Amino acid sequence: MALERTFSIIKPDATRRNLTGKVNAMLEEAGLRIIAQKRIRMTRENAETFYAVHKERPFFGELVDFMISGPVVVQVLEGENAIAKNRDVMGATNPKDAAEGTIRKTFAESIEANSVHGSDSQANAAIEIAYFFAGSELVG
Ligand code: GDP
Repeated sequence: MALERTFSIIKPDATRRNLTGKVNAMLEEAGLRIIAQKRIRMTRENAETFYAVHKERPFFGELVDFMISGPVVVQVLEGENAIAKNRDVMGATNPKDAAEGTIRKTFAESIEANSVHGSDSQANAAIEIAYFFAGSELVG
């Protein structure tokens, strides 16, 4: 098994409802270590760059508006197979499809306001971590 790092966001719907601690408890319970974390307000440019892969999707504009609608908590999580482990504890994109006990099943409001983001590959994890954190901020 490989010790990996993945990038996570606690989205505005969750920070608005004061759920940062509850989400973090579920991440830690799943065996993930929060090795870096900061609460920020994304700029429109941040959100557009971060979700550039979805630029052509019909929901892109709404997604960007949502991501800048309130503070987010950006995080780096470390653990064995952290990328897959985090995707498991997050649950499916649409909370209606998410398994019981996952973060999205427990907290998400909708397919858009789905409380958390998690990298989907090692390559994207590295890009996303580097976009939001300096190496000196990662304390494993
Ligand atoms: P994820 O990897 O599970 O976060 O899912 P995706 O990469 O497919 O989508 C990125 C984000 O876009 C999701 O987490 C949602 O916040 C949002 N999203 C995905 N599908 C839809 C949709 O059909 N409508 C809207 N409004 N937002 C969506």
